[in-house]
Amino acid sequence: MDARLEAVRDTVLARNPGEAEFHQAVVEVFESLGPVHDRHPEFLEAAILERLCEPERQIIFRVPWTDDSGRVQINRGFRVEFNSALGPYKGGLRFHPSVYLGIVKFLGFEQIFKNALTGMPIGGGKGGSDFDPRGRSDAEVMRFCQSFMTELYRHIGEYTDVPAGDIGVGGREIGYLFGQYKRITNRYESGVLTGKGISWGGSLVRPEATGFGTVIFTEEMLKTRGSSFDGQRVVVSGSGNVAINAIAKAQALGATVVACSDSSGYVVDEAGIDVGLLRQVKEVERGRLKDYVLRRSGVSYVEAGCVWDVDATVALPCATQNELDGGAAARLVRNGLLAVGEGANMPSTRDAVAVFQEAGVLFGPGKAANAGGVATSALEMQQNASRDSWSFEHTEQRLTDIMVGIHHRCASTADEYGEPGNYVLGANIGGFVKVADAMLAQGLI
Ligand code: GLU
Repeated sequence: MDARLEAVRDTVLARNPGEAEFHQAVVEVFESLGPVHDRHPEFLEAAILERLCEPERQIIFRVPWTDDSGRVQINRGFRVEFNSALGPYKGGLRFHPSVYLGIVKFLGFEQIFKNALTGMPIGGGKGGSDFDPRGRSDAEVMRFCQSFMTELYRHIGEYTDVPAGDIGVGGREIGYLFGQYKRITNRYESGVLTGKGISWGGSLVRPEATGFGTVIFTEEMLKTRGSSFDGQRVVVSGSGNVAINAIAKAQALGATVVACSDSSGYVVDEAGIDVGLLRQVKEVERGRLKDYVLRRSGVSYVEAGCVWDVDATVALPCATQNELDGGAAARLVRNGLLAVGEGANMPSTRDAVAVFQEAGVLFGPGKAANAGGVATSALEMQQNASRDSWSFEHTEQRLTDIMVGIHHRCASTADEYGEPGNYVLGANIGGFVKVADAMLAQGLI
C-alpha cells in the first residue's frame, strides 16, 4: 500500500477498535487508491480520505418491544449516515443477530462507493438492528418495526436519509416501518423509504433488481472474454431475495444453476433449480431449503456443508459477508471457474479475492455487481418525486442500462490506471473520485 495512505489507514483502524468488517472494507479500498493520490495531491491536502472514513453522523438507540408472550425485549438499533456529498444518505436496514456497529459501518462505507458508481444522486448510509426476525410472528415483527421507527423517524426524510431493505428486511418490514413513519409524522412521504409495495409507492423490478443486476453485470464481464451465461454451470449461495432473483435471471440467460444454500445446508439440483418452487417455499411460506428438497425428486441436500464444494464455471455469492474464503476460492479455480459476481456485500474474504485475481478469474466486487438494488431504489425515488409509476419493461431497461454503465465505468477506470480487467480497482477508484470531487467542491464540512 502507498505510504501516505498507510498512515491514514493506521489512524482509521486505531480510532475504530473492534470493528473487523469495517477495517476489512477500508483496507480493501485504500489498497486501490495510491495511483489516484499521485494524480490528485489535492485530495490528500483536503484530507478527503480521513473525512470519508469518519461518518457524518452515527445514531445508536434502544428498541424496546413486547413479544407474543408479553415479555419485554430490548434490541439495539443503528443508523450510520456516512456521506452525503452526492445526495441524501441511501442504504438499507439489516435485521440480523450478527449486527453491531462494525457491520453497519462496513456496509455504510461500501454503500458510498456503490451509490456513486450507479451515477444516481444518492449518498451513502446503512442501518439495522441485532433483532432476529427468524421464528417471530408477523405481530412481533410489526411491534418491533413500529418501535424501531419511533426513534428512527426523527433522523430520516426524503431529502435527508432514505432507508430500504437488506438481510431480514423485505416488503413486510418496509410496510410496517412506512406505516409507523406516516402515523408519527402525519405525512404521506413516499420518498422516505424504498422497497415499498407496488400499490403504495413502490417500483416494479425493485424486488428483482439486486439479483438481476448482479447477473447483468456478470454477463458484461463474460462478454469481454467472448462468453456469456448461456451454457454456464452456476452455483449461487444463499436463497433469499438476491439469490432467488439471480438464479431466475441466470437461467433466463441460458445457464443451469445447480446449487444454492441457506444457513443450514445446501441443495444440489443438477437439472437446474426450480425457481417457482423455490419462491413458493422461501417467499410465500417463509420456509427453509429442506422443504424444497422434500418436494422435488432428483435433488440432494447437504447439511452444514459448504456450497462452494460444488463445481461451477460461474459463482454468484449472494448470502452474506465473508462466506467465501481462500480455500473455497482455490477449489473453485482448480475446477474451472471463469467468473465471480458478488450479489452480497463483501462475500469474498481478502484471501479469496487474491486467489481469483491471481488466477485471472473475472471478479466483480459487490459494490459494482450488486449496485442494481440501490440503483432501482433511486428509480423508485424518481417515480415518487414525479408521482408516476413506470412499467416493468421500462424499469428493467433502466436497470440494464445502469448495470452496463457501471461495468463500463469500472472497466474503463481500470484501463486508465493501467490494470485492465481489475474490477476491484476500477470500482474503488471510479466511486472514490466522484465522491472526492463533490466533497472538494462543497468545502470543509
Ligand atoms: N441493501 C441494499 C444494498 O446493499 C439496497 C439498499 C437500498 O436500496 O437503499 O445496496
